[in-house]
Amino acid sequence: MKETETGQHSKQAERHSAVKIAGAYALFSTLWIYISDWFSASLISDPHILTCIQDIKGWAFVPASSALLYILVHREERAGESAKALQGAFFEQVAVGMAQVGLDGRLLRVNEKLCAIIGYNQDELLRRTFQDLTHPDDVEAHLAYVRQLLAGEIQTYSMENRYFHKNGATLWVNLTVAPVRDTTGRTRYLICVIEDITGRKGEQDLLREQAAQLDMAQILVHDMDGRIVHWNRGAEHLYGYTASEALGRNIHELLHTQCSRPLSEIEAQVFESGQWEGELTHTARNRRRVVVASLWFAYQNPAGRPDLLIQVNNDITAMKLAEEEIRQLNLRLEKRVTERTAQLQSANQELEAFSYSVSHDLRAPLRAISGFAQILANRHREALNEEGRRYMDNIVLASERMGELIDDLLAYSRLGRKAVSHRPVGLHEVFSFVTGDLAARVAESGATITIAQDLPSVSGDPTLLQQIFANLVGNALIYRKPDISPHVEVKCRAQDDYVIISVADNGIGIEEEYQKKIFNVFQRLHSEDEYPGTGIGLAIVKKSVEMLGGEVWVESKLGKGSTFFVRLRPA
Ligand code: ADP
Repeated sequence: MKETETGQHSKQAERHSAVKIAGAYALFSTLWIYISDWFSASLISDPHILTCIQDIKGWAFVPASSALLYILVHREERAGESAKALQGAFFEQVAVGMAQVGLDGRLLRVNEKLCAIIGYNQDELLRRTFQDLTHPDDVEAHLAYVRQLLAGEIQTYSMENRYFHKNGATLWVNLTVAPVRDTTGRTRYLICVIEDITGRKGEQDLLREQAAQLDMAQILVHDMDGRIVHWNRGAEHLYGYTASEALGRNIHELLHTQCSRPLSEIEAQVFESGQWEGELTHTARNRRRVVVASLWFAYQNPAGRPDLLIQVNNDITAMKLAEEEIRQLNLRLEKRVTERTAQLQSANQELEAFSYSVSHDLRAPLRAISGFAQILANRHREALNEEGRRYMDNIVLASERMGELIDDLLAYSRLGRKAVSHRPVGLHEVFSFVTGDLAARVAESGATITIAQDLPSVSGDPTLLQQIFANLVGNALIYRKPDISPHVEVKCRAQDDYVIISVADNGIGIEEEYQKKIFNVFQRLHSEDEYPGTGIGLAIVKKSVEMLGGEVWVESKLGKGSTFFVRLRPA
């Protein structure tokens, strides 16, 4: 628009100066003819001389009028040049980017401001077309405008489009374009005015985004009587009522507000502290129950009295449903675990009862076998040949071993039937009983047993505790290295709410892969010939410790000794 006006102005100026020159010429010629005719007529009366004077005057008019025309045209030219210089200065010093762009898009002239906006210097810009600088998505819209401009359908156009800065960044510019036409009306080039609006655009985008976010939140405002005075798009979306339907209605009646506290109490809190935060249940237009996390603010009037309540609600229905589902699943899981545990317990009890009655009932026939074998071996030994005597000895040994196994099995199954007492038991007493019980084995093996002085009292059953530590110390004496006297060390330390008693030996050690298995019934790592035993001792230890609410485990390295740990509740 500006450039078109400029073009029109310059045409007008040209016309104006032509008129000025023509006027000055006409005035000069008229004055020349009138004054010279009047002057010569008043001075000279001789017609012959007058004719001569007229001739001279005619000839003199030619250089005089030429000089006048020269002066006038020269003055107008100078005026034109200074106008052009002024235009050039304007082009350079104006605070917006300016460019002359050829009809093929080539940049013909650019000002410094445009260089500063786009990041290229003048030479670099003059080697480019406007298409090189424009974001590809904006080129077509621009070209459509240019076509309309060239067709004379529009005189100028403005658009916001994106340019590429030399550093690759995208710039938003406001572009205004006008054609510059020659005297025949043909467009010679385009004048572009470019204004960098990147900052403004960013702010606008941010504002638009914030406005959209604000609209997504459910914001409702009501007065002290609950009358809705503001209902935004988010509220429309969530509850299904349009603003015109909601405005003026009582909010709690409209949404059937439910809360774990009386609404009057919540309102009192908002007036007192300025805000309240909690969960509400609303009913939407389609009768759907909506749970919202609600934030209430009191808006105070200039007199300092609260007269509006602002609610910002966030739909958490899906989250609440998921929470409820998880709660139900947990309940079901707990119920199933309890059922399974009860089933397992009863199966365990049945098994224990079974193994108890089996081992108990096996004892009598075994005793008979063992007794008769013994009698046979004593009284009729001589009647048997060598082979018979060997068989007889094997029967006696096997029935003795079976007796031991049955006794151990019975001891193990009896554990489950035993009522456990929980009372303070001094570990010193327990260990003096254990060492007393094992005195013969200690003496026989040349073992040393070190027991820490600071052993505390634990909560438990004395018989179970004796069984536990007798088994552990007993094993430490059994599973010794052949060439070293056994050394057993008993220590104790406190950890969290427990005491941990350790029984360490310098024996043969246990391979890592068996360290858990050895606590199962009949799990042995050695043959009866290497080390005697039934494989029930550690199972009894484990069961006893668990009955006291504790835990047992072992740390060991093959050939490097073992340490058994027992965790118990202190007394
Ligand atoms: P038993 O000693 O009657 O065989 P246990 O249940 O007491 O049965 O032990 C199971 C197995 O664990 C033993 O056969 C032995 O191989 C291994 N074991 C137990 N205590 C030790 C120990 N202190 N050092 C090395 N091995 C051990």
